[in-house]
Amino acid sequence: MFETDLTGVPQTSATGGVPDAERMDDLVAHAHARYADLDEGEVADYIPILAEADRSWFGVALTDARGGSHVAGDVDVAFSIQSISKAFVFALACEALGHEAIHDVVGVNNTGLAFNSVVAVELNDGSPMNSMVNAGAIATTALLPAAHADERWQRIRDGLSRFAGRPLALDGEVYRSESFTNHRNQALARLLQSYDRLAIDPVEAVDLYTRQCSLSVTARDLAVMGATLAHGGVNPVTGDRVVSADTARDTLSLLASCGMYERSGEWLFEIGLPAKSGVAGGIVAIAPGKGAVGTFSPPLDPAGNSVRGQRACAYLSRALGLNLFASAPLTSSDAASPEGVLS
Ligand code: GLN
Repeated sequence: MFETDLTGVPQTSATGGVPDAERMDDLVAHAHARYADLDEGEVADYIPILAEADRSWFGVALTDARGGSHVAGDVDVAFSIQSISKAFVFALACEALGHEAIHDVVGVNNTGLAFNSVVAVELNDGSPMNSMVNAGAIATTALLPAAHADERWQRIRDGLSRFAGRPLALDGEVYRSESFTNHRNQALARLLQSYDRLAIDPVEAVDLYTRQCSLSVTARDLAVMGATLAHGGVNPVTGDRVVSADTARDTLSLLASCGMYERSGEWLFEIGLPAKSGVAGGIVAIAPGKGAVGTFSPPLDPAGNSVRGQRACAYLSRALGLNLFASAPLTSSDAASPEGVLS
């Protein structure tokens, strides 16, 4: 179960909008203060460079759907986006190829297994299952239309930069560290190739995937990237239309079912928002029509999700009324017509 620690925090309903800017500033500051001293979890070390992170780093950022920014803590510390890139590369692929193609070629169902599972591919006749696990993310990256590897990389970097509203740079140290140790991802790509499920050369596909995971972001960036998905595909800070509203919707529905891997059901049960986590300690949680929370804190729970980040997301979801499933009955003055809302 996701640890949420919400005793005494009243559930605000998701009906209606978000509170005013000052209240959001206060709640973000409170989410940070509430968990800053929580020192649980382990910093990832299977990618050697990640083990050098400071376990006390903690940043909480919220970008609302009007582009307003509400931040606390280490929101400008750079870290590698890792698996959170999967959400945004999925959006680029969905935009380029369409809803049907993604559904048919990659799939949109949860594997119920870990993010890097080989067994999941084998159990499903070679299907990568969904774009949020490593096999599906590698297959999705390979689907992006481009004439050659450089062009495909530009497309990924430019696309993710537009989501963030600023140029994102590759962290060369992370890229090299992961390139030397990503044997399992190479095995997954070869396995997909053996099932004829990979559109390009497996070495190139894994290299691109490793690059996308090594893009450097901050908690502030994650909040803006998520807010673009919350705002119908238009970056609320720059006004840039990055993807269509349909693509933003499809991305969020996939995140709801698969974004937190085999723990997506528990996450949805506790927090009620589409979200994506990465092993460097980032989480983005998106409230459609309202905004997004980006958090950064390196210590992870056993499933690979940031401990402080999940608590801060849970707190803000409840206190701000972001949980998609938390409704309140309409009052008589809300009714759409004298006959009532269902007429
Ligand atoms: N680049 C990492 C990997 O492929 C991403 C995993 C993650 O963030 N969960 O192992």
